Amino acid sequence: MSIKKIDHIAIVVEELERALGVYRDALGMAVTDVREMPEQDVKMAFLPTGDSEIELLEPLSAESGIGRYLAKRGEGLHHICLEVDDIEATLADLKAKGAQLIDETPKQGAYGRIAFIHPKGAHGVLIELVERT
Ligand code: ZN
Repeated sequence: MSIKKIDHIAIVVEELERALGVYRDALGMAVTDVREMPEQDVKMAFLPTGDSEIELLEPLSAESGIGRYLAKRGEGLHHICLEVDDIEATLADLKAKGAQLIDETPKQGAYGRIAFIHPKGAHGVLIELVERT
């Protein structure tokens, strides 16, 4: 297995428009898309930089996974996504090495097949793996 790059870093925010005041206006990052994703109960802004991007996530409801996360832990880093060339091989390899996986098999994400590694098994950081299609 090999990790190709950091695909994106996802940050939970209370209010997307206010967060864009920092990431877009103060830091000067370009926003390529702002999208509501009702199936994930989240509104997202995409800010590519170099070969990866920052994603800002605003929960659409307090009861969603992201909404509960925000209520419990406040704004900040939600997950880091690593791009892999073969997600099945990566998951099999991680399993063999005793990693704590949230997803033992890949599921369909916005831009490819994804799986999550539990933060308890990754020193406090939720890690998403993606095989882009
Ligand atoms: Zn992600």
